[in-house]
Amino acid sequence: MDECEVIEVKETYASQDPATDLKKVELAIKKVTQEIQVLQGHKQQLIAKREKLRDAIQQNKSAQLAQKDWDRKDFPWSKELQNIQENTFKIPKLRAHQLPTMNATLSGEDCILIMPTGGGKSLCYQLPAHVSKGVTLVVSPLVSLMEDQIMGLKALNIEAQMLSASSTREQVNGVHVDMTNPNSTLKLLYVTPEKLSKSKRFMTKLQKMYQMGRFARLAIDEVHCCSQWGHDFRPDYKFLGVMKKMFPSTPILGLTATATSRVIQDVQKILEIQGCLILKASFNRPNLFYEVRPKPSSHDECVKQIQHMLQKEFEGQSGIIYTMTIKDAEQLASDLRSQGLRVAPYHAQLDADVRSRVHTKWVKNDYQESGRAGRDGEPAKCIVFWRFGDLARQSTMVFTEQTGLENLYGLITYCLDGVRCRRNLIAEHFDEAWETSDCAGMCDHCKIPREIKTMELGDYGQKLLLILEKSSRLDQRLTGQKLVDLFLGKGPTKQRVQEATATGVLRETAESIVAYLLVDGFLKEDFHFTPYSTLSYIVPGPKAEAGIKPSPMAVGGSRKLSNCSSLQSSLINESSGKDKSSKSGIKKTVKQSSKEESTLKKSGGASSNSQNSHSLSLHSNEEQPASKKRRIIVVDDSDDEIDD
Ligand code: ADP
Repeated sequence: MDECEVIEVKETYASQDPATDLKKVELAIKKVTQEIQVLQGHKQQLIAKREKLRDAIQQNKSAQLAQKDWDRKDFPWSKELQNIQENTFKIPKLRAHQLPTMNATLSGEDCILIMPTGGGKSLCYQLPAHVSKGVTLVVSPLVSLMEDQIMGLKALNIEAQMLSASSTREQVNGVHVDMTNPNSTLKLLYVTPEKLSKSKRFMTKLQKMYQMGRFARLAIDEVHCCSQWGHDFRPDYKFLGVMKKMFPSTPILGLTATATSRVIQDVQKILEIQGCLILKASFNRPNLFYEVRPKPSSHDECVKQIQHMLQKEFEGQSGIIYTMTIKDAEQLASDLRSQGLRVAPYHAQLDADVRSRVHTKWVKNDYQESGRAGRDGEPAKCIVFWRFGDLARQSTMVFTEQTGLENLYGLITYCLDGVRCRRNLIAEHFDEAWETSDCAGMCDHCKIPREIKTMELGDYGQKLLLILEKSSRLDQRLTGQKLVDLFLGKGPTKQRVQEATATGVLRETAESIVAYLLVDGFLKEDFHFTPYSTLSYIVPGPKAEAGIKPSPMAVGGSRKLSNCSSLQSSLINESSGKDKSSKSGIKKTVKQSSKEESTLKKSGGASSNSQNSHSLSLHSNEEQPASKKRRIIVVDDSDDEIDD
């Protein structure tokens, strides 16, 4: 309020009677407050409109960019690009979306590339980095992948460096000099997001590099980590929001294998690159064979199965076994080593050089690809070992994450489905529509299809509710395992409910039913903290509370082929010879498992090939001589792999 208005207020309300003046002033205040409210409302409407208009402009820009032909080969850099692709990288042909991404980033446009792991995202900044003047900065949260890429680039004589928390002072100084030296041959600089957000000195160097016209582009790997909606939000990625303001003419190239539109929109807002080119490749990776196997409940039995599998099914080949925790990775690696297998653990708690050594040994052992299975396009198997007991171990680890449970339950749905094509299930997760023909028999369910059967779970659901009610009356909480015990008529006598026992149901079927009812929302996990751990108890879910029946569970009937085979028994009966006639290069399996048959006959229960904890990705390359000893690394699948 300026001085004139103050004087006016004084004059208007300066009568002889202060009480009268007060009333007038109060009335005036009320009026002004109402006007402010109206104006605030108007302001909110205008802000919303501004957002919409901005979004529309950005969408137009994205649409315009998407309409351009980025696949052209007549850009000023096209010849050089092709030359480096063929002669330096020795890559005869680019994959879908690679050339458009490279052309867009070389044109100075911001771009987000969504492509599955192994699709070839790295090449989309590595190749342009070689063509561009100056340095391409690559932000990546995974030190192991940075090390892997630098190793690969050095082998191609391309100058690449990295800065992470474990870089020595000399390394840091050397990189800083290269950044601002116009004669330096440094092409790619890899940094962790933490390095960017925490090192002012590095940011100062970056500014200098930018002013010298040497900041060619910013590539952000795993760009979904910016978004709280993603499964892997990392606070340090938020810092990347300042980059566009600080370096407006440096194009940003975001790369991710996370495809949900909510995450992609959020990422653009955070990075302030709305209106960029968005390219999305199909998530179908035809060379991968997907399979789910039951994980034995005993650790020893589990080690035995994996050992057998590595020695017989994947003899002479290499791969990665993902585990839930670092401890699991250490334990499994040591157990397998004691059986004479060439196995090493790999995780964040290892010393940087031990980790590097393991990595180098693994990569050099004639397996030219690191990361996950089949990156080289050769056939590979992706096996999930699933067991009900691991559900609570996982859920108590992820339930505080924004989409932690959603993603876990998605995976459990994948494991539990006894009939549907695994590719169909994965496509649903990525919002894509794949035909069953896209699978071409490359999953356990398509390779040997089962008769489709559904199992009504209404009665079982009611029985479980009765058990939960009784325990609740007795003030006892039930974990998933305890609930299954009581469901099978076992466990503490006073908690049992005679009429709620599922007679004739095998334990694994009972476990599948409880797991299915959880992902279906008929039951719910209820998490409780103790000073040392988090516990998961089972309670009635939203469906049960609302009196809605559970959805029927798809279970596999008998196999459709007469000579069909069980994956379970393949582990035990398989001969070590390779089936050269198999188009995929992946061996056939043998004989039906009688255990599995009886599960289905007795209860109509879920297929027993639906049990997760150790997920195994194994490279299966027919060209390699079987005699050649390959290595397996056991990697923990927790976030701890990320360098801090
Ligand atoms: P992503 O980052 O998408 O997970 P990578 O960039 O690591 O995948 O690529 C996986 C592998 O595929 C690498 O070994 C890479 O050299 C190879 N690759 C990439 N593009 C091609 C291509 N056009 N042709 C053949 N191999 C390719």
